[in-house]
Amino acid sequence: MLFAACGAAPDVHANATPDTITIGQTCGQVQVEQGDAGPCATSADALAHYATVYDARWGAPADFDSWTIRVRTTPLSGAPSPQVTVAGTVYYATKTIDVLINALVVLPHEMRHVALGPTSNDHHGWCDEFCGWEFEALQFDEHGYLGCPAPGDTMPRP
Ligand SMILES: [Zn+2]
Repeated sequence: MLFAACGAAPDVHANATPDTITIGQTCGQVQVEQGDAGPCATSADALAHYATVYDARWGAPADFDSWTIRVRTTPLSGAPSPQVTVAGTVYYATKTIDVLINALVVLPHEMRHVALGPTSNDHHGWCDEFCGWEFEALQFDEHGYLGCPAPGDTMPRP
């Protein structure tokens, strides 16, 4: 399965409305979609861990406590093709982050979008610091996805 934090379509929406889903469980700022999700705390604890790792490096995005993180058990909309799975999406207008239940590690990527705002949809400049940090801190490799040089590859790319 190919995970795309963003896919060809942006994973960032200034005004779009999140997918309509049925929430099965709520714990704190985390909502878990109805389905085969296990206990709410399992997802919430993992997300809290990833948020802590993000905050330690980048600081918490402003007003992040007011955001809702929805754990999705069904596919997120916006996939550019059936072969691509969208792992996370940010909806600014409703302060909502959707993350796929088996790709919770994408949360820091989405938090970076929250911090930078809707104009971060092109991930411009993310190779400079974020991509390498994400790989080291989370073992989540988005070099290919973000179009960044592979780790250890110092050759500039066009
Ligand atoms: Zn993104």
